[in-house]
Amino acid sequence: MAITLTTRKKCKRCLLVKIAEQDFYMQGGRYRSICKTCYSANNARNRAANPEKTKAYQKAWRKQNPDYHREWSAANPGKLNEYQRRSRVKKEIAIALDCTPNDTQSSASSNAGGPSGGAKKG
Ligand SMILES: [Zn+2]
Repeated sequence: MAITLTTRKKCKRCLLVKIAEQDFYMQGGRYRSICKTCYSANNARNRAANPEKTKAYQKAWRKQNPDYHREWSAANPGKLNEYQRRSRVKKEIAIALDCTPNDTQSSASSNAGGPSGGAKKG
């Protein structure tokens, strides 16, 4: 039997009724009380509020899981390339947006010459 995405659950944060299988994280065999969107927003806010703590936590986590990234990229071949490509594109867009209009004023000249010659009276 296929898994059906029909369990409805109300998020305690945004109060929206969402699909549990799709929009909620599992923890200990149960769905969390807030949806993925609210959960990640919560995390982002906490990270922004405590940058030092976040850095320390990430450092400690990496120390505890030194092989995680290697194992992940082995288990997900091609995904890392995809991420790198995306972040490169993002960077290129940022650079493109960053360049000022003054930079593009270099050569306004089109074809050399101009409207010359051609029509002979005959
Ligand atoms: Zn929510």
